[in-house]
Amino acid sequence: MSDIPFALPEFEPGWVWLAGAGPGDPGLLTLLAWHGLTHADVVVYDALVSEEILASVPRAIPREHAGKRGGKPSPTQADISLRLIEHARRGKRVLRLKGGDPMVFGRGGEEALHLAEAGIPFRVIPGISAGIGGLAYAGIPLTHRDTNSAVTFLTGHNAMGAVPDQIDWTSVAKGSPVLVIYMALKHLEPIVERLIAGGRRADEPVAIVSDATLPTQRVVETTLRRAAEAAAAARIEPPAIVVVGEVVTLRRELDWLGRFVARRKVAAAP
Ligand code: SAH
Repeated sequence: MSDIPFALPEFEPGWVWLAGAGPGDPGLLTLLAWHGLTHADVVVYDALVSEEILASVPRAIPREHAGKRGGKPSPTQADISLRLIEHARRGKRVLRLKGGDPMVFGRGGEEALHLAEAGIPFRVIPGISAGIGGLAYAGIPLTHRDTNSAVTFLTGHNAMGAVPDQIDWTSVAKGSPVLVIYMALKHLEPIVERLIAGGRRADEPVAIVSDATLPTQRVVETTLRRAAEAAAAARIEPPAIVVVGEVVTLRRELDWLGRFVARRKVAAAP
């Protein structure tokens, strides 16, 4: 990366860089993540890192899949951390690449704690989280002065795969005008029930954004009451983000991807 006008830190042997890959579009990698990707001795990536990004890793750099994916057999978190520690102890430059931002519902904190306990030097490289970048690509502002000055990020899953009990659903329903729910598809129905029981309007606008920022991105607009049904009818597959709130209606004007980019591609087709 010789043509950027500032210095990036040296990727030193024996270090782990815990980097976010963003939601999928390779253009959303940070310069630091790209620097790490091209200077690593090994790339250890998780299930959410897109094919497009993996395809851009130089061929000479070995890559290892170490991801957890709901419902499928996957290495334990301790196994993954151990692998990172072993590579680093062998003096490798280890790029640990995680979808979105490593510290947002991504167990980045757990991996960093294991590294810290083992005395392995590490750097954290934030990435664009799906709940931010995914909304931008769906034409939905996270905050908008007329509708909301607060937003809440939630997960629809706890460590056991159930609807998280530690969330006070009534307070969330009442207190936050916009909700951005990660990992919500599996339990969409009970989540919706809890939000409506907590005082949320059943006809409130909802968007479900799957494969955000990728060429396969899909957006379903519906209402809170109909959200689970609409996701099933449209055969929405994970990964998907669910957005609840009035900001969803701004998509009518702001769907830049659908309005301009997709149209340009059609116009350019032979
Ligand atoms: N650390 C990640 C989140 C990991 S949790 C981040 O910051 O984005 C996994 C959840 O993230 C998925 O279930 C989904 O809700 C969301 N997600 C990740 N990538 C996505 C994408 N490209 N499109 C839609 N949702 C995505």
